[in-house]
Amino acid sequence: MNTPPIIGIDLGTTNSEVAFVHTTRPEILREGDDGILPSCVGVDDDGRLIVGATARNQAVAYPERTVLSVKRKMGKEKEIPLAGKSYSPQEISALILKELKEKAERIMGRGVAHAVITVPAYFTDAQRQATKEAGAIAGLEVVRIINEPTAAALAYEGGNVGDEKRTILVYDLGGGTFDVSIVRIEDRVVEVLATTGDNRLGGDDFDNRIIQWLTRELKQKHHLDVTGNRAVLARLKSCAERAKIELSQAPTTRIEEDHITGDIHLSVELTRKTFEEMIREDIDRTMQSVTKALRDAGITPGGIDRILLVGGSSRIPMISSMLKERLKIDPSKEIDPDLCVALGAGIQAAREMGIDTSGVLIDITPYTFGTSAAEVNNEGLDPHVFIPLIKRNTKLPVSHTETFYTMVDNQELALIQVFQGENRNALDNILIGSYRFDLSDNAAGSMITLKYDLDLNGILKLEAVEKETGRKINAVIDNVFACEDPDRVRTSQAKINVFSPMGAAHNPGAETIPSDITDTLTLAREKLNVASKEDQDEIIDLMEEITDAVEDKDFETARVICDELDDLLFYID
Ligand code: AMP
Repeated sequence: MNTPPIIGIDLGTTNSEVAFVHTTRPEILREGDDGILPSCVGVDDDGRLIVGATARNQAVAYPERTVLSVKRKMGKEKEIPLAGKSYSPQEISALILKELKEKAERIMGRGVAHAVITVPAYFTDAQRQATKEAGAIAGLEVVRIINEPTAAALAYEGGNVGDEKRTILVYDLGGGTFDVSIVRIEDRVVEVLATTGDNRLGGDDFDNRIIQWLTRELKQKHHLDVTGNRAVLARLKSCAERAKIELSQAPTTRIEEDHITGDIHLSVELTRKTFEEMIREDIDRTMQSVTKALRDAGITPGGIDRILLVGGSSRIPMISSMLKERLKIDPSKEIDPDLCVALGAGIQAAREMGIDTSGVLIDITPYTFGTSAAEVNNEGLDPHVFIPLIKRNTKLPVSHTETFYTMVDNQELALIQVFQGENRNALDNILIGSYRFDLSDNAAGSMITLKYDLDLNGILKLEAVEKETGRKINAVIDNVFACEDPDRVRTSQAKINVFSPMGAAHNPGAETIPSDITDTLTLAREKLNVASKEDQDEIIDLMEEITDAVEDKDFETARVICDELDDLLFYID
């Protein structure tokens, strides 16, 4: 590719990342690490400038020669003292940007001179200008500044930012800042309708609440006062952060720190419930901001189509549950909340390079893919139940296998269909593939496994296997993420499926169905494919009645209806 590369950068208060779209996918650029560069600049023992983790690690020991959170100073006429020298906020930020640029150049093996950089939606013109200047100092022409919530929306909606109007709430809680924004996507344009928050609230506050709790514990249990003891407080800080992160996964955690002073060992259990009580007030405040953002945007809670969680602290489970309670939507958190903004910046960078991002994929599937199967439930036979195999928002690549059973003895074929959608009735979804699977002579209830493999490029591979014989069929469908277009539907008329899912309320007791009845049902299913819409409805009704009678073991009635069905089928070719 001859177009000069453009990288996407999330220049964060705590951490920064750089992303680039390789062929179809934005990737965080990593050098065997997690790709996260602490937004920290310092001077080491030898007087050399250091950036990233090394600078952050010395912050507690040498605060006078370490700069943290320079982003808070952007756009202000401030001089930042560092080891006897003085720097502007732009110059400090430029050191972080230069580190990211050089990393990108090492990984990509070529020069990089252009970038898209994200900023908070509330940044003023002066702050945006300062960010551009920081880029210029680092040798990067900033081709575009985009808002962080916009980037998050791009990361989630990716190439699917289409004509459909969508309203998204982005809840971004990081280490030291909280932002909530309402974003509208319409006609492929992403717009921030409202933004609010608290630029002094984040994970650091939650750590501090745990530190206060530990300090009280030490006082009560060991009569030890550690307030003012910087070394001990620094150790408590890492214990607290570790515990907090663990509580996002587990209901309790144990905090252990030997020799906190002399022979006093800290060992205490912290429950998620206690932690939640500590931070409830803070989280309540963020919820008030959510309400304010909605009000500012003139949107009712019901008008939100999606909630995106961004920022490391948004992993706290209480946040998801409170948002769900208020807005009645499960928040999306499939994309790493620490990397989401950078990935979105990468997508915007690709757009700036003229790459058609409608094919750009993030590593989750935006759609649900499944098949259709017949299911017998309390209401009778439902011939077109949608059975999802790969659910929307699942991380890619993914593989899933589901088991199905034949419905009748010597069933001749199973029609393996692939649908995209969410509706319980498969026919209300989009049919993107239909494959005939000829079966061997097996008893009813024979197992068929169906496997879907979906990769990052939207290639869906399916494999159906008849368990008894090992006979199988394979199929590949390309670019399933572009299947909104109804023209892609390969068969205009959906056909009845002839296998029934495991876990369906009931398999129609196939072994107990007399063969003359199963013969009629088999014939009915075959003819259903060629029947008119009107006849189809009638056939299905009669099949349901037969199934009901069979369920009641009333074969006499079943046979009477079979006769009626046979008469109808006779005229269908
Ligand atoms: P950010 O500024 O987005 O990088 O977020 C960093 C903050 O997220 C720090 O305060 C982390 O302690 C916090 N954090 C990271 N992972 C988790 C987690 N699983 N649960 C709670 N907080 C977390």
